[in-house]
Formats: sequence, structure tokens, C-alpha cells
Amino acid sequence: GLQPHTAVRWTRTVCPYCGVGCELELGADAQDRIVGVRAALDGPVNKGHLCVKGRFGQGYVDAPSRVTTPMIRRDGAWVPCSWDEALAYAAERLMALKAAHGPQALGVLGSARATNEDNYLAQKFARLVLETHNVDCCARVCHAPTAVALKNLLGTGAATNSFDDIEHSRLFLIVGANPTENHPVIGARLKQQLLRGQAQAIVIDPRRTELAELATLHLAPWPGTDVPLFNAMAQHILASGVQDSAFAAERLEGWAPFVEAVNAWTPERAEGVCGVPAALIRAAAELYARTRPAMSIHGLGLTEQVQGVDAVMGLVHLALLCGHIGQPGSGVNPLRGQNNVQGSAHMGCEPGSLPGGQSLAQGRATCEAVWGQKLPEARGLTLMEMMDAAGQGRFKGLLVVGYDIAHSLPDSERTWAALEKLELVVVQDLVLTQTAARFGHVFLPACSAAEKSGSFMNAERRVQRVRPAVSPRGEARPDWWIQCALAQACGHPQGFEFEDAAAVWDEVRRVWPAGAGMSNARLDAAGLQWPCRDEQDPGSTLLHRSGFSIGPRATLRALEFLGSPERPDDEFPVLLITGRNLYQFNAGTMSHASAVEALRPADTLDLAPEQAEALGLAEGQAVRVCSRHGEAVLPLRVDARVAPGMAFATFHDPEREVNRLIGPWRDAVAHTPAYKRTAIRIQPA
Ligand code: SF4
Repeated sequence: GLQPHTAVRWTRTVCPYCGVGCELELGADAQDRIVGVRAALDGPVNKGHLCVKGRFGQGYVDAPSRVTTPMIRRDGAWVPCSWDEALAYAAERLMALKAAHGPQALGVLGSARATNEDNYLAQKFARLVLETHNVDCCARVCHAPTAVALKNLLGTGAATNSFDDIEHSRLFLIVGANPTENHPVIGARLKQQLLRGQAQAIVIDPRRTELAELATLHLAPWPGTDVPLFNAMAQHILASGVQDSAFAAERLEGWAPFVEAVNAWTPERAEGVCGVPAALIRAAAELYARTRPAMSIHGLGLTEQVQGVDAVMGLVHLALLCGHIGQPGSGVNPLRGQNNVQGSAHMGCEPGSLPGGQSLAQGRATCEAVWGQKLPEARGLTLMEMMDAAGQGRFKGLLVVGYDIAHSLPDSERTWAALEKLELVVVQDLVLTQTAARFGHVFLPACSAAEKSGSFMNAERRVQRVRPAVSPRGEARPDWWIQCALAQACGHPQGFEFEDAAAVWDEVRRVWPAGAGMSNARLDAAGLQWPCRDEQDPGSTLLHRSGFSIGPRATLRALEFLGSPERPDDEFPVLLITGRNLYQFNAGTMSHASAVEALRPADTLDLAPEQAEALGLAEGQAVRVCSRHGEAVLPLRVDARVAPGMAFATFHDPEREVNRLIGPWRDAVAHTPAYKRTAIRIQPA
């Protein structure tokens, strides 16, 4: 029932869902239950607003599915045990596998569900205890291509602006992102600017999203054809002389191969590949080039492709040609999908990077000095490479922190076969995820975000304080604590003796020069955006004002279009795109166990009305979807936002297994799977 206001203890913290990073207050009653949620009125990003997930998605903390006791699987069944037993068992098995097969047979996965401090210790555990750089996180399957592209072109793999730039910009170039559903508070801010006539939008998305309806121009390319589209826009910008010549002369190089590559893509040629009329390509190029300030905002529609890195580079090229970078309201902004996906990779859960996004070469000396141990020499494996190696029997053991890979990786049958071969899977999580339930050997119960201290890093590089609103449930422990206890059980206490999350963060600042200014005391007062190098540094709302992190000039790249192996034909005539919806969140670990679940419980296959009619299918009817890789049965949803020839499906429901449909294709550099383009056929179930 309703509690008297005075009986509720309110704690300010950060929403555990998307990468917007809304600050909210959780109210707990005298029985230590969460009984209320309210927006922080002065939250720097949300300014008093929350979306449906923030407001009604906190019930997972005390959901019946929560598992709060350590467990070991014995003879196929989970057996509850003490922490000492579980840790000793996991440690003994990990060390035995390391001795038998070497460090390269083991790996660790961090995740967005974990705090920066948790992720920092997860990668430290991999590098110091297991002695391998085989450490990765969920950024691998989302914005890893963005990080690679931005780092290579500009020097920093993160958004160039702040969300407050939305109110300074006059044009949003929104590519492969549906913020009104997936980053709703930011979607609302964008929408308000459009409705007020303060800004225009160009939306590039195969679906006619809510923002596409409000946009000045909507380009609907076939999925996976962004490289020729951006090349053609660049070609027209140069051919019509609307580039920012002064910016280009001062800050860009690499012209000859770039110009040759883009000149091969006239808008007419791109139209043949992308399906976007040449006149619309020209109009979009001119509107973007001529409107100042303009900022691009992109999502996984751009990155989850076989050429994800190239596609992001193509988008950055447009910003560079037009000088749309380094000014308020003007830049390149990936919408990071999860609350702390930026932080998990940035804390070093990335095989090629140490904390702070430093390359192994850059950060090795500092980390070795602070950690008191030499780092491994062998190159680390990405998550997808770990799965490949597991399938081939070369990889034996995995520690998984808050990441349901069995549900969320593509090509499910192959993923499951690989996981099946692992000799040890240790899962730290809130519930028995599919990964734990089907493939786990040891389950270590972790605290939810509502039960622990630390920090999350949002999509605009802002580190914000996470505070416990209630006490840890059952025997659940924070992931940073679990990493320390496991390291000690492995006989490696050195480097894992921390009193609390604040002490872990103090060490992060010692190994990450660009984060050194973000002391715990400052974060307690307010979030800070990096770079923030000392305690007098106010942090950075905007990157690349003059020059770039990589140097005074950015080098343009020649981008060739490779095309996807997923080609529609008579047997598989429709192209499927997968994505999220407003009411659910990824594998559903939190949203399935909260009130929002009731609002949209089932995944659907969304088809254009004319396509559904042509196939003789009706709303709600069960349809069998087949790709060259697998099958799924889904209820049909008729949705005019989907173009004929395409289909859209969400992937939240473990019963539906939509990722069975997705093939093994991935970006060659970032290894991010191509979730956004799969040839399918649809028939009544
Ligand atoms: Fe949470 Fe994102 Fe919604 Fe904000 S917009 S309340 S961070 S899910």
C-alpha cells in the first residue's frame, strides 16, 4: 500500500537501463523495500524526466526470479552453497584450466550492468590473475565499431559533444537510431526541438520512425548500405562546393585517395545500391552541409553491419568535410545503448585497451607500475574470437559478469555449441540468465545497481555516482567484491585488496591520466565528463575544439563498399532488421522482472501492411521466420513504419530466440555482429 512520505528514505542514483544516464531517486521503506521512484529534478541529462523503464522498471530488484545464494552445479543440478565453497570451487577449476591449457584458454566478460569499479576489477582479474588479455564486454556487439572509427579518425572513441548540445544545434543527422524508443529522454529532447521549430532533422533509417515523421528529410536505405550512401553524400558536398573549405584546409589531410573513392559514388550509383533516390541524397548532403551547427546522432543501425567501422568513418567524414565538429551543437554522437557500456569498455574490458581506452602500448608502463605485475604479451581475443576458439575446443573457461551471451549473441546454435564445450562457466548475475541456466557451472549472486556503490559512465562521457538505496539481497555481493574474493581464492591477493568501491575508483584514477581529476568527493557532488585531468579541471563538455586528440589534422580514409553476404533471393526475399522496443531492454534480465514487462511482453515480427496483406497474414497471427541460419516463430505485428521488402523484430524474449536467425557475419576489424541485415522468408506457423 501507499507509504506515508516521511517513512520513505530517498537515495539519489542513476537509472540502470539505457546510456542516457538519467539521475533518479529510489525510495525505500522501513522494511528496506523499494516503494518509489522519482526523477532527480536537477539531473544533468534528464532534468526532471524519466522514461517508462526508469520509472516502472525497478521491480527487478526484488523479483521472484532473483537468485541471491551462491550455487555450484553438481550432477546437472544447481546446489546452493556458501560463498567460501563457491569461490574455492571456481578458483580451483580456473587455476587447473590455466595450468593445463595456458592463460589463452581462459577469458572474462564485463558488462554494462556492472559499475566502472566492477568492470575495472574484472579486466584486472583477467590480466593479473588469469594472465591474459582475453577480456571483453557487451560493447563488442554494439558500438565497438564507433570506438574504432572515432579513435582512428579523431583520437578518442567517444561522443564529441554533450546532450545539452541538442538545444544548441539547428540540425540533427540521425542515423540508424530510434531514440524515442531506445533513449527516450533524449528522444523527447530531440522531438521538442523539432516541434518547436528550433531545429530540423535528417533521419537515415530503413524504418519510418517517430523522428523520421518529424524530419525535414527521411532517407530509407537498404540495411548495410551506409558506406555508399555516405560516399555519395561526400561526393555531392565536394562537387557542389558546400564543404567548409577553411576547416578542411586547416584540419584535414589524406585528400587524394579519399576524393578518388567518393568520386566513384555518384548519387545515381548509390541510389542503385541503397534504394535512396539520388535527388534525396543530394538534398540531404546540401541541407547537412549548409545548416550550422549540425550534429550527428547514430545508433546500432550503423554499427551492427559487416562494415560497421567503415560506416561510422563515412559519417565522421561528413562532419569533417562540413566542419561540423568542435563547436557547441556540432559533432558526432553515438547513442550508447546501455547504462554503462561506455564505462565497461573504457575501464579496460576490451582486449586491446587498458583502462581509459589507452592502447596496450600507451598504458602498459603505468598499469604495470601501479599493479606491480608485468602484463601478458599475447594479443587478447574479442568475445567473438573467444566463441570461435571455444567452438574449436581451444578455449576452456569463461567468467561472465552480468552478460547473458547465450541469449544475445547471434547465430544462436553455433554460440550454444561453443558454450556447451566450455569446461567452466562462472556467472556473476542477478538471475539465472540463459547463460547461467544452460551453460553455467558456478553461480555467484551479484548486487543490483540499487544495492551497491560505484559509478556509471553515460553516452556523453559523464561519470555519475551510483548509490545503494537498499541493502544487498540475500547473500548477493557487489561484483568488485566478488572479483577481489575470487582473486584471493585463486591465491592472488596482490592488487585485489580494496575496502570499498571508492578505493577501487581511486586506483582507476591512478592508471587513467584523463580521468585523474574525477575524485570520489567531486563525483559525490556532481557527475563529471572526461577528459578531466586534475581536480581543478571542470571536465570536458566538448571534444576537438582545435585539432583532434590524435593530432592537429584528421586523415580522411578511402572507403570501399564490400556488400553483405546476406543477399535476398527467391527463397529468402525479405531483409530482417532486429532492435529493441520502448518497454523492454536487451536480454530482459531487468525488464522481464519489472512492471514494464506487462506493457509489451512478447517479441513480434513487424511487417508493412501491404507486405502482410500480400503474404495473407493478419495481425497477431503466429508466423514462422526462416533465415539461412535458423528459425523462429513470432506473432505478426502490422506496422506502417516498416518498408515493404523489410521486416523488424525485437529480440528480448528468451522464448522466441530471434538471434537464431542471425548469421555469423561480423565487422572485420571490430568483430561486431551484423544483426541488422538478415535475409528471411515468412510463412504462417
Ligand atoms: Fe533510464 Fe534511459 Fe529511460 Fe533515462 S531514458 S529513464 S536512462 S531508460
